[in-house]
Amino acid sequence: MFRTTIAGSLPKPAWLAETNKLWPAWKASGAELAEAKRDATLLWLKEQEDAGIDIVTDGEMSRQHFVHGFLEFVEGIDFTNKVKMGIRNNRYDAMVPQVVGPLKLKGRVHETEARLLRAHTTRRVKITMPGPMTIIDTIHDAHYGDRVAMAMAFADLLNQEARALQADGVDIVQFDEPAFNVYMAEAADWGVKALERCIAGLTCTTAVHICYGYGIEANLKWKETLGDSWRQYEQVFPALAASNINQVSLECANSHVPLELIGLLQGKDVMVGVIDVASEVVETPEQVAATIREALKYVPADKLFPCTNCGMAPMPRDVATAKLRALAAGARLACEPA
Ligand code: ZN
Repeated sequence: MFRTTIAGSLPKPAWLAETNKLWPAWKASGAELAEAKRDATLLWLKEQEDAGIDIVTDGEMSRQHFVHGFLEFVEGIDFTNKVKMGIRNNRYDAMVPQVVGPLKLKGRVHETEARLLRAHTTRRVKITMPGPMTIIDTIHDAHYGDRVAMAMAFADLLNQEARALQADGVDIVQFDEPAFNVYMAEAADWGVKALERCIAGLTCTTAVHICYGYGIEANLKWKETLGDSWRQYEQVFPALAASNINQVSLECANSHVPLELIGLLQGKDVMVGVIDVASEVVETPEQVAATIREALKYVPADKLFPCTNCGMAPMPRDVATAKLRALAAGARLACEPA
């Protein structure tokens, strides 16, 4: 039997935040918001379990955005005076906070949701955090003056939180590095080293998620420029294969990634994206099973974890629920003879 999981995020319910948005505004504040976040986390835990997802997440209900949800807990960052910055190699503009001093965690980042999941499920629990290279590509530097030094400073903070998550009972800590598909040479050079700094000393399972982004318009247009064969993974997978990271999550469904590139990840668990997050069309179990069977040519069954291509945060809630069910149903179907 394949063990299924998701990249991480799920849509926020309309009573928690604006829907169908990447940077949604919260609908409440203070204690009321904290309670709403907890309720939404439990709701998605139940939906994942009912759908048949084996390794569950908090759906990222407690963070406004996958990068800034972490940055809010870091001292040395000015959130009041945001600046406009072209991110992901100027693929799109974002209003980003600035690093203005030495970086330090203000306290725990994901303790509430990690403990909530642990208390309410016996399934394996995964918490995701942004990777250092993606963080420094989503913030303006007015202090370090050196991209790598700033990335390593963030890596130390991520490591501090990851160790605490492990102590909370989290089974898998995952770092999201979409920037690895944009700055491939830098990723192979120092991005993977920064990642190893994030997982130093951990005994829980560790993972990295590398994708072509959410299904937002800027990403769809970018993908159109990438041609018929997306070989970005080819540059960074050998460095990842040589690293200590346990699992790699990649995009496969409806993408132009040649699946033989999975063969570069010898020895790693591979989270194979079998659900397209850039389309609201729900996959059939047959389609999901077909992608799994294709990937099986390059990774043994006990190392293949059917997953989503990326997070489902900006999608309609009912579509995301249906896609969770398709993912699990397709994984079951792939075990039967074709
Ligand atoms: Zn992603």
